Amino acid sequence: MAGIEEQIQDDVAAAPAAVAPKEFAVENPATGEVIAHCPDLGAEEIAAMARRGREVQPAWEALGFEGRGRILRRMQKWVIDHQEEVIAVIRSETGKTYEDALIAEISYGAAAFGFWATNAENYLADEKVKSSAVLVKGKKLMLRYKPLGLIGVIGPWNYPLTNSFGDCIPALAAGNSVILKPSEITPLTSLKLAEGLKECGIPDGVFQVATGLGATGAALVNQVDMIMFTGSTKTGKQVMKAAADTLTAVSLELGGKDPLIVLADADVDRAANTALYYGMFNGGQTCISIERVYVEAPVYDEFVSKVTEKAKALRQGAGASGQVDVGSMTFPPQVDIVEKHVEDAKAKGARVVVGGSRGEHAGGYWYEPTVLVDVDHTMLAMTEETFGPTLPIMKVRDEEEAIRLANDSPYGLGASVFGKDIKHAESVARRVDSGAVCINDALVNYTALELPMGGAKASGLGSRHGAGGIRKYCQQQAMLVTRFATKKDPHMYPYNAKMTGRLSKFFKFLYGRGSRD
Ligand code: NDP
Repeated sequence: MAGIEEQIQDDVAAAPAAVAPKEFAVENPATGEVIAHCPDLGAEEIAAMARRGREVQPAWEALGFEGRGRILRRMQKWVIDHQEEVIAVIRSETGKTYEDALIAEISYGAAAFGFWATNAENYLADEKVKSSAVLVKGKKLMLRYKPLGLIGVIGPWNYPLTNSFGDCIPALAAGNSVILKPSEITPLTSLKLAEGLKECGIPDGVFQVATGLGATGAALVNQVDMIMFTGSTKTGKQVMKAAADTLTAVSLELGGKDPLIVLADADVDRAANTALYYGMFNGGQTCISIERVYVEAPVYDEFVSKVTEKAKALRQGAGASGQVDVGSMTFPPQVDIVEKHVEDAKAKGARVVVGGSRGEHAGGYWYEPTVLVDVDHTMLAMTEETFGPTLPIMKVRDEEEAIRLANDSPYGLGASVFGKDIKHAESVARRVDSGAVCINDALVNYTALELPMGGAKASGLGSRHGAGGIRKYCQQQAMLVTRFATKKDPHMYPYNAKMTGRLSKFFKFLYGRGSRD
């Protein structure tokens, strides 16, 4: 990562001009070194940014889908052309591996710029509506989607490109101005991408990055027309409460505790590879990580032995591409949470078969890839979001027990079911309470930008991707057009008994002939 500090300081210099007197430090979590300082913007700076964003929005909207699409497509190429620099910045503030940054951030970001540039117009085109209502016969009915104006995006630290910045792309494609408040732990990627958007020709003020702490996010909620929030369920509730004061719309992508069920007829090798990969991917710091596994008794021993063997072979560190499999943790307090969950499980009778400690590293924030067995629902590792490189595996009697335990959670983000009889596996998947479910797979549904992704239960409100993923940034406006009409419709004033009688008979004729069953 040579030269990264210099590059980062240049990016930070490109932060909003109204630099607040306060600053906060950004660390490289793989080493614990401070790599940059960013302005901690207060309510006044946010209000000024909001005024700027609103000022320039009408011209951005007026560019139309084609004009905005051109800039977004340029940015798609920019991301690929600057891939190495962006990966270096992402790695410097998250501690993730090169491959985790490439597979889940660069590829997502580049795909998303192209996807929204191409599909925004289709998703937001005027829709003709047909109606059976008597009073609108002969009239034209339409739905249109008008950009809301100024969108606030608040993001977490685990995927600074995909989860923070990614949600800005459809908001911009729809014709809104956007203010992004990245996590204080990972603001540098957003600043780097803002630089890219500028180079690609986005007008000044249409996209702004508001660096700062939690209070900066809270200030943003008060200034915008809609908040797209990704983060913990606890903060999501605070955001929703604050948004209620100004009746600001919210879309919330929150925490998860995703279960993976292995049925007795599963391909155990595939199930073991998938559970391990998507349990440890990005150091287990993915909202849709595999957080707990339920295995039917007949294949339990084989599954545990395969996962154990593969987990022992994982290489953890901060090395170059191809040299390490699992990186560091990103958020220092998260290491304490992971440790607490493992220690709690051990104290209640669980066995650690791989890992189980912070490991030995010269500095930074680390926890070893860890596999736990003999776990149950008295343990935090099975009931609370761990958000770390742990894979607790529980033996279940049958699929009924697996489904009951999978649903025994306040969360409902993603889930997976493994079984060779697809029809049967699908019937199990349909009984899991989650916003998304994969059969013989996990997580990759997130990359299908046509497929909505959102949480059930305490995992969120609303969704990203698909038509809903861009329409939420718009005011839906229902239009009715009367082109050919008489001077006065029959039901208008003055009321008279003759006309009322006729209308009454007409309604009876239309609606009064239904079955009495
Ligand atoms: P947090 O909820 O702690 O923070 C999220 C963002 O909210 C940060 O930018 C934070 O700023 C900001 N914030 C903090 N307080 C407030 C406030 N009062 N008002 C407005 N904004 C505020 O989440 P984490 O960053 O710890 O992210 C991890 C969580 O995100 C996990 O629970 C994970 O499951 C979830 N997540 C969900 C996803 C999904 O799609 N469902 C995807 C990715 C992650 P600051 O950092 O400066 O405190």
